Amino acid sequence: MENPELAELPELLLPWFRACGRALPWRRDRSPYHVWLSEIMLQQTRAETVRAYYLRFLDELPTIAALAACSEERLYKLWEGLGYYARARNLRKAARVIQEKYGGRFPETYDEIRALPGVGDYTAGAVCSICFGLPTPAVDGNVLRVLARLCACAEPVDRPAVRKEAAALLSALYPASDADGLTQSLMELGATVCVPNGPPKCGGCPVRRICKGLRLGVAETLPVRTRRPPRRAEEMTVIVAECGGALAVEKRAERGLLAGMWQFPNTAGRLSEAEALSLAAAWGLRSPRVLRRAEHTHIFTHVEWRMVCYYMSCAARPARFVWADAARFSDEIALPTAFRVFCGRAETERGGV
Ligand code: SF4
Repeated sequence: MENPELAELPELLLPWFRACGRALPWRRDRSPYHVWLSEIMLQQTRAETVRAYYLRFLDELPTIAALAACSEERLYKLWEGLGYYARARNLRKAARVIQEKYGGRFPETYDEIRALPGVGDYTAGAVCSICFGLPTPAVDGNVLRVLARLCACAEPVDRPAVRKEAAALLSALYPASDADGLTQSLMELGATVCVPNGPPKCGGCPVRRICKGLRLGVAETLPVRTRRPPRRAEEMTVIVAECGGALAVEKRAERGLLAGMWQFPNTAGRLSEAEALSLAAAWGLRSPRVLRRAEHTHIFTHVEWRMVCYYMSCAARPARFVWADAARFSDEIALPTAFRVFCGRAETERGGV
């Protein structure tokens, strides 16, 4: 990655950010707890989606001590729909480390923060620069995309060596007086101007004057990534069984995808209606009757679930399942989106994440 004009990046970017940066709730202060929480929530998730989750989470868990003491069920409920639930588990683990090892005070050095559960280079860099003014860049996919375009870099940006190079390049640019501003303005540029999934909005870009990708006419072709192996497809049959106003749910295994989360009973493979009925009977769902059927394809990073769902009514509540009514679903049972899509869904549909 090379562009001698990058030295001008801070002076072009910082005034733009002060004038045009979005007023997001986690930008109201520099509390390490708030910044850390927002950075974890923002991984893989858009700011517009995170906003409501962030406010609700802090409303209920306003301190690291409250997060450390939160039950797993409640934590999942607060995270319900955000996905990547390991993030929530790690947040609580890290809060407990902060309570026990640092007496409840958020650590202030890069190495201590980087060592917290669930914290990688990106999050440590973001917290240290935004909260403590350290010249530690936060290099994620957004920042890599911006840099690749600014430098007309045709190397695959997901190579560790390229990421390392980007971090070194940025470290040298950090102004002593405004590390916070540079980190946030780069994130903002990547989110609102030098956008993913479509052409960059170069016409309104504050750094267009120094953009090598734009000058060479290659910005839209960047960044380059190494080719990922195709996602594995798995067929699954889900049964949403209702009995006396309650639905059957169960916990997933403690390891693997969506570990320890709630789910509707399901089995591998795509069953016909007759096969689903006999499976339901074998589970002890007495006199099962299929009311309707739905379909959904749920996409995870490495796998996609192709799900067919049978809605059934039945005449008994076998104890192998937990039976949850509407109130319990609303207060306590956190269903991952892959299963939540079947709540209230009718007829045959297809959907994404
Ligand atoms: Fe991205 Fe275009 Fe700005 Fe270059 S000029 S940084 S490609 S938005």
